[in-house]
Amino acid sequence: MATEAPASVPRALSTHRRGGQQSGLRRRNLGRVLREVHLAGPLSRAELCDRLGIDSSTIRHIVHDLSRLRLVIEPAPAEHGAPGRPPRLVSVRPDGPLVLALEVATDSLAAALVGIGGVVRAKTRVARTSRVQDPAALVDALVAIARPLIDAPNVAGRVLAVGISTPGSVRAEDGFVGFAVNLGWEGVPLADLVAAGLGLEVPVRVGNDAQMATLAEHIRGSGAGCSDFICVWAEAGIGSGIIASGRPLFGSQGYGGRLGHIPVTNGDRQCHCGSRRCLEIVAGEDALIRYAGRPFDEAGPDAIAVVLAAAEAGSPAALAALSEVGHWLGIGLSAEVELFNPARIALAGMYARLYPFICASVKEVLDEPVLSPSRSLVEVVPAALGADSALMGAAEFALAPYLDDPARVAAAVVSSGSTS
Ligand SMILES: [Zn+2]
Repeated sequence: MATEAPASVPRALSTHRRGGQQSGLRRRNLGRVLREVHLAGPLSRAELCDRLGIDSSTIRHIVHDLSRLRLVIEPAPAEHGAPGRPPRLVSVRPDGPLVLALEVATDSLAAALVGIGGVVRAKTRVARTSRVQDPAALVDALVAIARPLIDAPNVAGRVLAVGISTPGSVRAEDGFVGFAVNLGWEGVPLADLVAAGLGLEVPVRVGNDAQMATLAEHIRGSGAGCSDFICVWAEAGIGSGIIASGRPLFGSQGYGGRLGHIPVTNGDRQCHCGSRRCLEIVAGEDALIRYAGRPFDEAGPDAIAVVLAAAEAGSPAALAALSEVGHWLGIGLSAEVELFNPARIALAGMYARLYPFICASVKEVLDEPVLSPSRSLVEVVPAALGADSALMGAAEFALAPYLDDPARVAAAVVSSGSTS
């Protein structure tokens, strides 16, 4: 994995300082202002003062520094003919830095170029024909769809980092995939393989797909404004991401949230992980296909669409199958609710498509008459970002260090030779 360059403060930021403590505060405030514009879009200086509780003189200096770092602009407002002058708005530079987001899904591969502010500059998604695939071949395919994006005009020198979403257990430290059973992977150095394939001298961060979807849904989707939030992501497998007190809780090594493998049953069937107790056995995609009486070898979005179409047509068998999945999902969610007391749970991926048909049975379990204040208060909603939530989460994951410390952006862009 490419290592992150040490942050250095460009000379442009060295004014208005008297010491290290003040310098640290200034860098934190740069990050706070840039993150606010990243999240909220264009804002006036007065709005930034109100939102962040920073005085106008400090905001003026910070906006000046961010402008010199070529991260924001403050264009003059267009004449609108009405009395009074509208305020200038601090906005992300449209020709500013980008991250490359990549997604390995069980049924597709995707790539996107995303700027600060979450603006998608380009995106592509292609279907995969086989779920189990040799890692080297899959990385070649991923690089092939990313290449036209990063080789496009006006992109050279602007890509700060790469973020990758993948199923499986991902070691946060170095992007090593321990197991991704639905891909047939064990011990894959995904960050290193993608870095070598792309040939970009930038950091590569890899995250679990459920955790990436959670980041995106928390920032711009169904979890926006909710500081205690869980997003459940289902494709071939089931995972979840946890936001606690406004911060991701992904575990000491990044393996947290594996909802699909919590023990809820004890039957004859075996989970891909080897256990016979997992939630995935009774609430996953295979379970839905099985409950619906569909052929055993059917899988993927097309197979789910067949069951949904039957449910929409009123098929009792399809409706019962969906209700059964919802029941078991409710049992799994009850455990997470009791442990983390979220205010809101979003159902993403396959569960977002199933939501209209499973929400009642999920809530029936959560609302069981037990003395549980957590379960009676939690809200269960469909995810808001559709099929791209994990991809957009990978972009946010790659951007996060630069939003925390915008001086890193300057160092990265200056070192890559961008003059745009
Ligand atoms: Zn399992």
